[in-house]
Amino acid sequence: MGFSTDAIHVGQEPDPATGAIIVPIYQTSTFVQEELGKNKGFEYARTANPTRVALEKNLACLEGGRFGYAFASGMAATNALLTLFKAGDHVIAGHDLYGGTFRLFDRVLKNFGLGFSFVNTCALAEIEKAIHPNTRLIFIETPTNPIMQITDMEAVAKLAHQREILMAVDNTFASPYLQRPLGLGADFVVHSTTKYLNGHSDGVGGAVILNDAALAERLKFIQNAAGAILGPMDSWLVLRGVKTLALRMARHNENGMVMAKHLDGHPKVKHVNYPGLSSHPQHELARKQMRGFGGMISFETGSLENARTVLKSVRLCSLAESLGGVETLISHPATMTHASVPLEQRQRLGITDGLVRISVGIEDVEDLVADLDQALAKI
Ligand code: PLP
Repeated sequence: MGFSTDAIHVGQEPDPATGAIIVPIYQTSTFVQEELGKNKGFEYARTANPTRVALEKNLACLEGGRFGYAFASGMAATNALLTLFKAGDHVIAGHDLYGGTFRLFDRVLKNFGLGFSFVNTCALAEIEKAIHPNTRLIFIETPTNPIMQITDMEAVAKLAHQREILMAVDNTFASPYLQRPLGLGADFVVHSTTKYLNGHSDGVGGAVILNDAALAERLKFIQNAAGAILGPMDSWLVLRGVKTLALRMARHNENGMVMAKHLDGHPKVKHVNYPGLSSHPQHELARKQMRGFGGMISFETGSLENARTVLKSVRLCSLAESLGGVETLISHPATMTHASVPLEQRQRLGITDGLVRISVGIEDVEDLVADLDQALAKI
């Protein structure tokens, strides 16, 4: 079936008890058993809840995977994935990951004996150089946050598998509508469902999707054992959001392109990072592995003062962390999402004090352009 058909139907058969067309929010902690050892497939809601299971089936299908697991947040999903590994294992990760992912790796998981090398995953040679005999996982984001760099997923998967290393892609920025990493060879896809999958800025959640049955069994065990599950209400909100993912992403693509082109020619803007611009260093690769370029843009205003002026002056765009919602959000990576990345590393990556990030929503794009124009005029 097509993407939208799957998004609307998979995992969401009419409720067997009532015929309700929408999967109910099974707000229950436990399930009554008929007799010892006899139940209807559900025992305790940490282990499995019907609303969560519906979402897990749906997300697995949209990513082209066999198994999906939903977690309390994107970070809980990544944390669960990393606990598939053990002390002494080594992970190669992108050097410009979401700041919270870097923080989890560098300041939490390192304490449990996992080793990390942070490299530019756009350069295969850099990944290759960082491989040690104990390397078990390559963890990438593409496009990256907030510089919008693109990693060649197919090439990295090939390199990883030649060395019996697993590969994970955080697909939060693109969503399965724009790219499907498992189809390009990735072993795991991670999501913060908080963003495009939910799409309405009304819930925090995460997911891991994969194909390998043995790894899936282990991840399910971890999900139940560690317990960072997505609750039924939040699962339902993501199910609801996903139904319009294709429509929303098509509009994010359109609005993102208009906004990026407009900013690119703007006299107050020094540089625009958007993979849809032909000037983007990996534009061709983005065209090859993505269906559209999404709604995430970052641009350079030249100084903290200029960035502050823009962020203070916008009226329609909202100054807030997060992304991927129907409404346009604008933020300052250096002091917000990436404050936990050391200054020297931020500077190396181009996360300057003048960099502003926009998550372009699905409003009328003329209104967004006008809002940014009046804010940029105050510089
Ligand atoms: N991955 C990416 C790319 C993100 O942008 C974020 C949050 O901003 C996360 C993971 C973490 O997700 P959550 O905030 O749902 O824990």
